Amino acid sequence: MRIRKKAIFLGESGVGKTSIILRHDGRGFDFAHSETLGANFIVATVGIASDVVELQMWDTAGQERFRAMVPMYLRGAAVAFLVYDITVGRTFHQLKWWIEELHRNSDRMDKNLILIVIGNKTDLAKNREVTLEEGQRFASQHNALFFETSALRDHGIAETIRAAAEQIILQTPSKGS
Ligand code: GDP
Repeated sequence: MRIRKKAIFLGESGVGKTSIILRHDGRGFDFAHSETLGANFIVATVGIASDVVELQMWDTAGQERFRAMVPMYLRGAAVAFLVYDITVGRTFHQLKWWIEELHRNSDRMDKNLILIVIGNKTDLAKNREVTLEEGQRFASQHNALFFETSALRDHGIAETIRAAAEQIILQTPSKGS
């Protein structure tokens, strides 16, 4: 079965959303601040047993402008990745705002929306401001999966995308029964 779904990336500017998306595209990592993709998506194709999940990964345009666009961006999303930078505590605390924003838009939201919290930039762990346990606790409080990643070193990203694909397959009717 081929399943096509939309995934969105939420989180403060600079946490690495674009880098995570581009990493999966196999284009490699641009250490300079990557150009934001705007209202575009990149497709990650994940094969699991006899199923293929095509995850359309949507990046966001400039953050301030984007906040007003959340309702539109959310429409039809099956997965929301909530990304913070493990070296900037503020970006972690801001995830509460993003979760509240999801709830404010729950009328437009898929009630089965899969939430995945990502603590990015583990290569900078010596400057860590958010512990692994804090990330895990926050994710479990919100019924989200949790991963730490490094877009720079390409750690954890394939696993994160795969976990999203597995959740999508579990939700697909003929598989759930
Ligand atoms: P976005 O605003 O959330 O889309 O963040 P970007 O993907 O544009 O990344 C912001 C900055 O963080 C850029 O300078 C990236 O090169 C850098 N960056 C992203 N991911 C990592 C990572 O895993 N490790 C390190 N050291 N830098 C990263």
